[in-house]
Amino acid sequence: IIQTKKLNKSFGDKQVLKDIDFEVRKGEVVALIGPSGSGKSTLIRCLNALEKADSGDIYIHGQKLNPHLSVKQLSPIRRELGMVFQHFNLFPHMTVLQNVIAAPLLVRKMSRDEAIALGESLLAKVGLLDKRDTYPSRLSGGQKQRVAIARALAMQPQALLFDEPTSALDPELVGEVLRVMKDLAYEGRTMIVVTHEMFFARDVSDRVVFMDSGSIIEQGDPEELFRAPKQKRTQAFLERML
Ligand code: ATP
Ligand code: MG
Repeated sequence: IIQTKKLNKSFGDKQVLKDIDFEVRKGEVVALIGPSGSGKSTLIRCLNALEKADSGDIYIHGQKLNPHLSVKQLSPIRRELGMVFQHFNLFPHMTVLQNVIAAPLLVRKMSRDEAIALGESLLAKVGLLDKRDTYPSRLSGGQKQRVAIARALAMQPQALLFDEPTSALDPELVGEVLRVMKDLAYEGRTMIVVTHEMFFARDVSDRVVFMDSGSIIEQGDPEELFRAPKQKRTQAFLERML
C-alpha cells in the first residue's frame, strides 16, 4: 500500500536519496535500519509529504503523491499515514485524552462522544487509561510516547510510520514502548519503523531494509539478514550494532 519508484532527493548538492524503490504491503512490518545520515528519516518524511522529493513517484494506498498537489489535496492522503516521532510533540496545554481526540474531532468530524469512546479505548490499549486527564508534562517519556502512538492510531490510518520512537527515551522506558509497538505488529497493522533497536527489527519485523548513503543496500527476511548479510556494508553495520 506504499510504494516509491526511483525516488531522488537532494539537500543542496548532497544527494540524500538515490533512486529509492521501496514498497510496503498491507499488514507488513518493515524495519528501516542504517547508519546516521543514510536517509532513513528523509525517506519516511517524503512518504508523508513532509519533504518533497526532487524526482520519482510515491503511491500511498493507490493514490499518487503528486508534488503539485495543494496542502488541501494532500491532507486526505497524509491522513492515511500515522506518524510517531522521536520527540513526541504532544500539545502541552491539552490533557492526554484531548491530545488523542483532537485530530479525529477536527479532521474526521467525529462526534464528541464517539471520539471520547475511541480515545479511551486507545488509551486502554497503550495502558494509559488512568492518565486520561493528566497533562503531558506530568508523564514520563515512555508514557508520552505511548500517548503519541494512541494519537496516531486515533486517525485510523492505513499505516503507521515510526521514526526512532525510542531513541530519546531513558533505557528503562524503551521496553514499554516497544511492547506497545509489538502488540500493534501482531494485530496485523502496516508499519514502517526506523529504529536502532536491532532486536526489535529482528524479532518483530517481517522485512528489514538496510540503507546506507541514500541507497537501499540490502533487504530481506530479518532472521536471514541478521544471520548472513550479503553485502559488506550491511555486515559492517550489524557488527557495530550488535
Ligand atoms: P539518523 O539515524 O541520524 O536519524 P537518517 O538516516 O535519518 O539519520 P536523514 O535525517 O534522512 O538521515 O538525513 C540524511 C542526510 O540529509 C544527512 O546528511 C542530513 O544532514 C541531511 N539532511 C536532512 N534533512 C536536511 C535538511 N532539512 N536540510 C539539509 N540537509 C538535511
Ligand atoms: Mg533520522
